Amino acid sequence: MEKLQVYKFGGASVKDAAAILNLCRIVRDFGPQGPLVVVVSAMGKTTNALEEIYDLAYKQQSYEAQLQLLEQFHQQTATKLGLTSESSIGWYFNKLLLQLRQRLAKIKATDDYDEYYDQVVSFGEMLASQLVAHALGAQSFNSQQLISTDTSWREARVDWQKTAANVRYGLTELLLAGPVVTQGFLGGTSYGVATTQDPAKTIYKERTTTLGREGSDYTAAILAYCLRAEAVTIWKDVAGLLNADPKIFPDTVRYPEISYRETIEMAYYGASVIHPKTLKPLADRNIPLRVKSFLDPAAEGTLIHDCQHPALAPAFIRKADQCLLSFASKDFSFISEENLAVIFAALAQAKLKINVMQNSAISFSVCTDFVERRVHQLLDLLREQFTLHYNTGVQLFTIKNYDAASIAQLTAGKRLLLEQRTRSTFQFVCQAS
Ligand code: ASP
Ligand code: MG
Repeated sequence: MEKLQVYKFGGASVKDAAAILNLCRIVRDFGPQGPLVVVVSAMGKTTNALEEIYDLAYKQQSYEAQLQLLEQFHQQTATKLGLTSESSIGWYFNKLLLQLRQRLAKIKATDDYDEYYDQVVSFGEMLASQLVAHALGAQSFNSQQLISTDTSWREARVDWQKTAANVRYGLTELLLAGPVVTQGFLGGTSYGVATTQDPAKTIYKERTTTLGREGSDYTAAILAYCLRAEAVTIWKDVAGLLNADPKIFPDTVRYPEISYRETIEMAYYGASVIHPKTLKPLADRNIPLRVKSFLDPAAEGTLIHDCQHPALAPAFIRKADQCLLSFASKDFSFISEENLAVIFAALAQAKLKINVMQNSAISFSVCTDFVERRVHQLLDLLREQFTLHYNTGVQLFTIKNYDAASIAQLTAGKRLLLEQRTRSTFQFVCQAS
């Protein structure tokens, strides 16, 4: 579609009724002339709250207090925005709240944790998108019907061919009538469960999937790719793409312009500003990505596109809640390719991503996000063959485009447990202070 744009509004930009009204103002006063797709995340910290509620439900513990808070908060926001159950959106919104409650009540300890996580946590986006559609007076379209994925729960992989067809058939006409709101982070899958030997008797289950935490940026990129959008804008609570998270580091600087490649690398190292998978589909179609502040929509922000730029200011990235694992072969043999193959297979099976790794003669270390359940699964898988040590409560720092001064500044007073440097990147793991 010509001149089509995609806007993505993250959790902070829809955190309450005032924020949602600000979103409407941005679309009205700063929005494009042509068609617009609006991708929204769950309100504020709703996804974290749903994760906690789900976890309690799964452990068959009481989640009633937390659920009530979440329900009340959403209901109050709906009221402030003038959404009533008389309208079809209001009716659907209330139905979603009811479905969330019913779904939680049915969670069993024998259910697949990750599959049902997606069925529950997705309600955050479902609810927020209805509030935004109402406030904007826009149509909405559920992303389960747009983004087709496989069944890799919580980290679903996109079926690009199906998705492109869904998006074309689902959105093209709707977009002629005005902005369309859809949910970020979610996808849909259908899978067959054989009931008998007879393939004709296979039952197809429709399920929601999620694309990985903070995945709404990725949704915006997928839709932009499929619709050959002119540009994508991510609206955030910061002035653009900064060289560090201002909540963690003082004196940040904004990059006015940066290449796809640099941004992909920063996202990979954990810069939380953009979901790492977002850049590739955009770079493939040369679609520029703007990062702008929803608090100051007229300001320039950052333009991410195919460009050459002089040396960038060093970027500081911290990944918190890390786990540093070391494996040593029990028989004191060297860490061999065969050993590494076993370790990598176990990491993949436990769905633990390697953030940094290093090997020495008889041991091999990896730093991963600390997900207790997954780390224990990994330890179970490898205990027989390896002696294992691990430290939790550690953090991983990366300095991209480092210089001596930036290393000295960041490492001062820290005890490093692991350190590594390439031509452009300096990384270290240390105990969280
Ligand atoms: N609401 C989801 C999350 O917090 C997705 C997103 O915000 O992008 O992870
Ligand atoms: Mg979010």
